[in-house]
Amino acid sequence: MKNSAYIKEIFSSIQGEGKYVGVRQIFIRFAGCNVNCKNCDTDYIAKSYFYCNNKRYKNPLSPSELEKIIDENFKLNMYHSIALTGGEPLIHKDFLKEFLPLIKSKGVKIFLETSGILLDEIFEVEQYIDIISVDLKIYESFGVECDLKEIGKLVSLLDKVYFKIVISENIDLEKMDKILNYIKEMGVKELYLHFINNKFNLRILDKILDLCYCYNIMGYFIPQIHKLVGIK
Ligand code: SF4
Repeated sequence: MKNSAYIKEIFSSIQGEGKYVGVRQIFIRFAGCNVNCKNCDTDYIAKSYFYCNNKRYKNPLSPSELEKIIDENFKLNMYHSIALTGGEPLIHKDFLKEFLPLIKSKGVKIFLETSGILLDEIFEVEQYIDIISVDLKIYESFGVECDLKEIGKLVSLLDKVYFKIVISENIDLEKMDKILNYIKEMGVKELYLHFINNKFNLRILDKILDLCYCYNIMGYFIPQIHKLVGIK
C-alpha cells in the first residue's frame, strides 16, 4: 500500500499523564518505535490486525481508511482531543501528513505524544497539532538520551509543547540540574514528573522539586493515573 501505517489499537480513555491529565481522548496507538527504552511498558509490536471498540480491523491501512474507522466508532465532539501515541507516532510521518488534514478538518484537537527524538518530523507535522507532549529521555537507563541542543529547537513551539520526565530512584541529579538549566534558558516554566511504574520516592521527588524551584520552573508531580485506577 502506498502510504500506510500499522496501528496497534484505537480506544477511548482518559489521559493519565502530564498537563492534560483527566481529559477524555481517543487514543490512536501507532505500532513501532525508533527508541528501545529499557523501562518501556508499552506493547507497540505490529500485527496484521488491531482492535477498536471490540471490532477487528486489518493492518496496514491508509489515511482515509483510518479516518473512516474514527468516524464509524466515535463522536468527535464528545472528546477533548485525539491522542496520537505509540510507540512513536512520528515514525509514520508521511502517513500523518496525509491523515491529519483529513481529521483536523472535522474540528477536533490533535494531541501528540512523542519522545522528542525525531525533531525534524515534529516540524513537518506541527501545523496540524494543537498539543505536543514531549517525554524527555534524560539518562542512559532509557537506552537513549535526548540531545539537549536538538530539544532547544522546540523553543519556537513552546505555546503548544510541554515536557514530561519519568524519574526513578537512580536518577542522576547532576544531569537533572543540567537539563533544568537548559530548559529554563529556553523559557520553559513548568515540568511534569512521574515515577517509572508509579514507584514513588518522596526523597528523590523532594530533591527534584528543589532543583525545579531553584530554576523557577514549576514542577508538578502526577502519578500515572490510568495505572492507579486500572484503565488503559
Ligand atoms: S519511546 Fe516510549 S514507546 Fe518507545 S521504547 Fe521508549 S517508552 Fe517505549
